[in-house]
Amino acid sequence: VTDTRAESAPTVTATRARTDRLRRAQAAARAAGVDALLVTPGPDLTWLTGYDAVALERLTCLVLPASGDAFLVCPRLELSSAAASPAGGLGIELAAWEETEDPYRLVADRLGAPAVVGVANRMWAEQVLRFRAVLAADQVPAGLVLADLRARKDDAEVAALRDAGQAIDRVHLRMGEWLRPGRTERAVGRDIAQAILDEGHDRVDFTIVAGGPNGASPHHETGDRVLERGDVVVVDIGGTHHAGYCSDCTRTYVLGEAPADFRDYYAVLLAAQVAACEHAGPGVTAESVDRAARDVITQGGYGAAFLHRTGHGIGVETHEEPYIVAGNSTPLAPGNAFSIEPGIYLPGRFGLRLEDIVVATPDGPERLNQAPRDLAVVE
Ligand code: ZN
Ligand code: ZN
Repeated sequence: VTDTRAESAPTVTATRARTDRLRRAQAAARAAGVDALLVTPGPDLTWLTGYDAVALERLTCLVLPASGDAFLVCPRLELSSAAASPAGGLGIELAAWEETEDPYRLVADRLGAPAVVGVANRMWAEQVLRFRAVLAADQVPAGLVLADLRARKDDAEVAALRDAGQAIDRVHLRMGEWLRPGRTERAVGRDIAQAILDEGHDRVDFTIVAGGPNGASPHHETGDRVLERGDVVVVDIGGTHHAGYCSDCTRTYVLGEAPADFRDYYAVLLAAQVAACEHAGPGVTAESVDRAARDVITQGGYGAAFLHRTGHGIGVETHEEPYIVAGNSTPLAPGNAFSIEPGIYLPGRFGLRLEDIVVATPDGPERLNQAPRDLAVVE
């Protein structure tokens, strides 16, 4: 049976966008003095080609010379998957290798003698070392070439992040169904994970449910602690939405009556988060966004308890450039998407964090999360 339907418009647009990304990556490689990019399965490959391949010991690798034609090396048994993926529609050669062939040698023979190759930042060490053995080239992280391209989202990418943000907002809006005294963090986390999938994510990336003292550890995921009345609970959740872009949103909830001083902490945190969100337009430095949040918390008297950077870029990965941190003096560019997530952590008591994804648009900062930021009391 032949499928005679025309390619849908979004597919054509996506193909055009990816072809353009490949071209821009080649131009950036030339500008950086990198002769070829070697991109194994992971976020760089997904972003460049749409091929969300599983990372395996058998080599799959996009080879993108700074000048000349790209080709995708893949094991014979993965060829049909590669061809069926969006990468199959990009007009790049799919070079399959047989089980008894050496795919690294295959890449080396075709590449000639590059002086500098960029290896994908998430490439496995064993693959980096095997490329090092067959190519007499300096290896640099491909991120030197790709990170800045990936960090400037086009309209379709911003739309995908907006969809992901709205999906995770809907999960937060249902939190009262699950967050109950007497339940363990783990049980609540399982319910949240299911809801993340129900709201259109392909993958659950993390479910942090940190009640009481556990909230003082920013990346505590879930545990066996039973939630109690009066607990402060940090809920930081995210997944990879169906178009391939990530969600990440934190709200802090109180089960019933909050500890006496909690409202003071929360008021400072909210003011800090709002200040940084309003500041985060194009042209201001990443570190000034961090400062906008940190200054408010420091003036509130809790500066020492804000023990991490203010945020991270987000896209096909949950954490990518730009990092919103002191020392990053790079100005934000239109299309940059990143979290703003100040927190206050009080060992032995509780923690609180408030996180939204923000895009620096030409018109200023746009918040992609709309779940209410007022103190969320679950009765
Ligand atoms: Zn988060
Ligand atoms: Zn985050």
